[in-house]
Amino acid sequence: MTIAISAAYGLIIGSFLTVVVDRVPRGASIVSPGSACGSCGLRLGFRDLVPVFSWLALRGRCRRCRTNIGIEPLILELVTSVTFGLFAWKFGLDWALPAFCALAAGLIGLSWIDLRTKRLPRSIIYVTAAIGIPLLCVAALVRHEPRRMWMMLLGAGCALAFMGIVYVASRGGMGDGDVRLSPLLGAYLGWLNPGFVAVGLFIGFFAGAVVGVVMMAAGRAGRKTAVPFGPFLALGTIVAVLVGQRCIDIFMRR
Ligand SMILES: [Zn+2]
Repeated sequence: MTIAISAAYGLIIGSFLTVVVDRVPRGASIVSPGSACGSCGLRLGFRDLVPVFSWLALRGRCRRCRTNIGIEPLILELVTSVTFGLFAWKFGLDWALPAFCALAAGLIGLSWIDLRTKRLPRSIIYVTAAIGIPLLCVAALVRHEPRRMWMMLLGAGCALAFMGIVYVASRGGMGDGDVRLSPLLGAYLGWLNPGFVAVGLFIGFFAGAVVGVVMMAAGRAGRKTAVPFGPFLALGTIVAVLVGQRCIDIFMRR
């Protein structure tokens, strides 16, 4: 039940993210004006804005001018929904659930923007931290585990230190947005278990290296091409949240 409700929230938040990823890189307000068709300017009403269902009913086209709005909104809504559902499966009904859903929403929005514009807008990083970190503190106190707040600080520090070293060593290969994002990821993973910070970063770098090599082999990218790294950090973090302990167990051969 918790999983279904969480997944439904994911659809709504995913729908909101389609607005965020469209407007934040342009510096436009995410509140007003309301959503409109990019082609004919038709203001979207309630029945155009029901996640997934509106898209399916209209087959991804504007109701008036029939302009194709693309499959992106649908993918964004479904990815957010699935991630929220997985976190509900992981955490159950707990204060940690809204905290980690805030992280998921932030990471999905940031990854989307990074793929398109190769930038990680700091406003989204800061808003995610401003919502998520207090929720993590509440979750730690409700569980009577205040030590998790120290684990959070430790995780943030370790992630920032590691990414700072990579940033200097890579001489411009790594974006400063990735460094700015790292303490947020470290705080979340550290809250769970400071060891998960290493798991998340390792998976992120490994996935990024694999995709980078494949793209080079396919001739799609040269050594100098900047591959957006945000989505890989996001992927590593979400995998570490879900199965971090199993990764550590496998590594330790227990
Ligand atoms: Zn239209």
